[in-house]
Amino acid sequence: MSFPASVVNSRIEAFKQACVERGVKVTHQRLEIYRALASSVTHPDAETIYRIVRKRIPTISHDTVYRNLKLLSDYGLIAVAGTSNERLRFDANMERHHHFVCVQCGLIRDFCSEQLESIHCPQEAHAFGEPVSLHIEVKGVCTKCGSHKKKKK
Ligand SMILES: [Zn+2]
Ligand SMILES: [Zn+2]
Repeated sequence: MSFPASVVNSRIEAFKQACVERGVKVTHQRLEIYRALASSVTHPDAETIYRIVRKRIPTISHDTVYRNLKLLSDYGLIAVAGTSNERLRFDANMERHHHFVCVQCGLIRDFCSEQLESIHCPQEAHAFGEPVSLHIEVKGVCTKCGSHKKKKK
């Protein structure tokens, strides 16, 4: 599953701009890594991104992909969406959004909610420092996993 080219292209333009602002060099490798991530709705892990990028840059190594993902997330150019099977999952969507996470297959999908937008960071969180953002993760069983279960019965 992937986003339409228009969405991917505007994300790529915003990414280039953000790189310049943060002083991160926009290399061909980084652009392709970002493109792979920004095209996918699945919040892929480094291994999945590597397999996509390798089609365009056959000489790229897994290590290079991983190091660049790490660098981009350190600079706040991409986000870490969580982990599944001990692997980090990445996210190109830097706009405010929340995640639905399937506890069975690890599916992560974005959603926006006006209801959640109105929630303010609770006072309890301030005890640990200054909150920057509030992200809500809904855990559940996705429709695909749910229907598998039904079939087995
Ligand atoms: Zn699932
Ligand atoms: Zn996301």
